[in-house]
Amino acid sequence: SAPSYIRGIEPYKAGKPISELAREKGLQPENILKLASNENPLGAPESALQAVREAATAHNVALYPDGNAYNLKHAIAKRLGVPAEWIIVGNGSDELMGLTCEALLEPGAKSVYSQFYFSVYRIDTLACGGTPVEVPAKGFAIDLDAIAKAVTPEVRVVFLTTPNNPTGLTISQADFEAFLGKIPPSVTVVLDEAYREFVPEEDRIDSIALVKKYPNLFVTRTFSKAYGLAGLRVGFGVNSSELPELVNRIRPPFNCNTLAQAAAAGCVNDQAFLDRVYEMNRSGVKQLEDGFSSLNLEFVPTKSNFVLVHIGPKAAELNQALLDRGIIIRPCASFGLPEWIRVSVGTADQNERFLAALKELLAKLS
Ligand code: PMP
Repeated sequence: SAPSYIRGIEPYKAGKPISELAREKGLQPENILKLASNENPLGAPESALQAVREAATAHNVALYPDGNAYNLKHAIAKRLGVPAEWIIVGNGSDELMGLTCEALLEPGAKSVYSQFYFSVYRIDTLACGGTPVEVPAKGFAIDLDAIAKAVTPEVRVVFLTTPNNPTGLTISQADFEAFLGKIPPSVTVVLDEAYREFVPEEDRIDSIALVKKYPNLFVTRTFSKAYGLAGLRVGFGVNSSELPELVNRIRPPFNCNTLAQAAAAGCVNDQAFLDRVYEMNRSGVKQLEDGFSSLNLEFVPTKSNFVLVHIGPKAAELNQALLDRGIIIRPCASFGLPEWIRVSVGTADQNERFLAALKELLAKLS
């Protein structure tokens, strides 16, 4: 029978898939608006789709993928200006969180992360029999001083997220460097930059330069968000020390599939697409935040592609009413924020549809 620490794990709650809501409500999938999982409203770039079309031959798909993701790793390494040996590719970046825990944790060992965290950090820690330590945030911000103080000798991993999910707040370069200076080299600091490409330049951490300086820093990024490849599952991590090699020992041999590798390699340098995504997202953020202001709703000003907004005691009811209209957002009770919802930034039309429904439902619910 399974160990009790496995039975204690709450499964990850993903945003409801469009197909599921369509079935439940008898709606057409194309009429459903999903702003729940911070996906890319522009879809995948043509550069990725072209690469998938080329890779999707009968012969190629019948073969196992390149288990070492040679082309993709080299493309990423070239873009970042680091050796390919520093890169590890995962089935989404969340796989790399799990493999990092597997490589570093054991019963009695701990991981540390902030309140308002991506739930995978906790699940992956518990799955290894490790002990998760959740450090209270300062308001909505990650309290780096408190996290540094929580790093006791049992701690092997610290998870930090910038911009953070679900708050959209960033960690500054100066604060992060000061933090790294306080952490013993035996502790791996995972800097989860899943939403990096949405962050204005001046608020980004120069994380690859820091990887070169701090052997215990592991930076993770993904093709799921700005690159629009969430359905293909590709992410990667960068570390200058032994973590890629350790993770390589324990990862499933063909963890990143052929089409995912081709798509990611096809679009990794598609800066024109990333620029379009960035611009559209920033104007969508403004549209949503202006909409919330005009409805007198409190929100956390975001640097990412989602906004955390305060609804009040009727947040769960509002969520149900939105679902009835075919709109999926992320209720935040599981983040410990039952009065808040998180809304992904969509296209201008999608944001407008959401804001109109919100306005009407708030008037009805009050
Ligand atoms: N980190 C954070 C903070 C996220 O929100 C997500 C996705 N929701 C991920 C990592 C994982 O993304 P993926 O596995 O698709 O790369």
